[in-house]
Amino acid sequence: MSSFKSLNLQPSILKALDSKGYKKPTPIQEMSIPHLLEGGDILGIAQTGTGKTAAFSLPILHNLSSKKVKTKAARMRCLILTPTRELASQIEDNIKLYGKGLGISSAVIFGGVSSRPQIMKLSKGTDIIIATPGRLLDLMGEGHVLFEQIETFVLDEADRMLDMGFINDVKKVIAKLPKKRQTLLFSATMPQDIAELSKSLLVNPKRVEVTPESTTVEKIDQKINFVERANKPGLLKSILKDKKINHVLVFTRTKHGANRVVQHLEREDISSAAIHGNKSQGARERALNGFRDGKLRVLVATDIAARGIDVSSITHVINYNLPDDPKSYVHRIGRTARAGREGIAISFCDPTERKLLKDIEKCINYQIPVDETHEYHGVPAEIREEKKLRNPNLTKKAKSSNNNRRRNSSKNQRPRSKKKS
Ligand code: AMP
Repeated sequence: MSSFKSLNLQPSILKALDSKGYKKPTPIQEMSIPHLLEGGDILGIAQTGTGKTAAFSLPILHNLSSKKVKTKAARMRCLILTPTRELASQIEDNIKLYGKGLGISSAVIFGGVSSRPQIMKLSKGTDIIIATPGRLLDLMGEGHVLFEQIETFVLDEADRMLDMGFINDVKKVIAKLPKKRQTLLFSATMPQDIAELSKSLLVNPKRVEVTPESTTVEKIDQKINFVERANKPGLLKSILKDKKINHVLVFTRTKHGANRVVQHLEREDISSAAIHGNKSQGARERALNGFRDGKLRVLVATDIAARGIDVSSITHVINYNLPDDPKSYVHRIGRTARAGREGIAISFCDPTERKLLKDIEKCINYQIPVDETHEYHGVPAEIREEKKLRNPNLTKKAKSSNNNRRRNSSKNQRPRSKKKS
């Protein structure tokens, strides 16, 4: 494994990396940076958590600052397109940090906030623009954005752009880019549409794949908790009784589901907030900052909001609902175990979600161990929270009668096997 120094990055970048505590490049950084410094194109197949932001930001900063060019009004030298506002802000934060002292300007362009300050910033000319496609297109249409000075274009989380329905907007942006440029495309997965897009976009790209598609991050301790749907709020509360579980990201399938979970948690005095597309930009940022600062113990998110969450201290991911798309499972649990840390992923599975569980296990080629020790394992749905509060023994009784029932009908049991390699 090489060091950052051997990658020949500018001294001030090396200093920033040192102060951030990065000891050595991650595999994607080691594989991409030399090629990008030489101006080559990259097709990066990598999930978040692999260090891909630095993999593209560092060489971009190095190259832009090695050859200073004055950017004219409405122009930029580098455009980074990313699917969510949170991701755009995080990329800019990273760029500011790594580029401290280089004199490289940057700005974010995204919807949900007033466009005035963004237009003001663009009017001065900027080295690096990090944008979501919708607002960028609006501002392009109004003549506030011109691409002729672009040297490098980054398409980040391309598969997510597709999932979120942004791919046509992305194509409209691409159509306006100068032909002569360096292009980087990152995607966690390679669906057909993205593979085709990459062919039309990249010239002789180096393919950099850090974790094979659909492989679950190995450091994550995964568990399945079988539970009746009505018992999910109780199960969540019972897990959170352990005060050591203090930085938890909970996933729900719907925005309303996320709001309901927060209501349940508030009733228990567990500090939490929801983050999803119906929340205003301000509310999303407050929630994310509160979670990052440790003021909120639990953040409840939908899949779309989750892609932009880079909080390295998440200890637990809880799938309150299993995702419809098995690949989302990989993305969700990848929120924990960031940057080499270990993490725990607990997935609730009610009887209607068994098929989803099967699909996930097939996709990750791993049978997730079942936790049979949790409070609601085998507890029928009719044991509602209220009843349980009135009579705490009810849960135990129901559980033991259910265990007896299970013992008597072993043919229904799911055969368990060890991790397949
Ligand atoms: P990313 O995949 O870009 O979202 O990065 C995931 C996390 O890894 C972020 O919190 C980064 O700050 C961190 N990170 C990136 N590169 C390194 C590195 N070389 N050493 C340690 N942490 C890193």
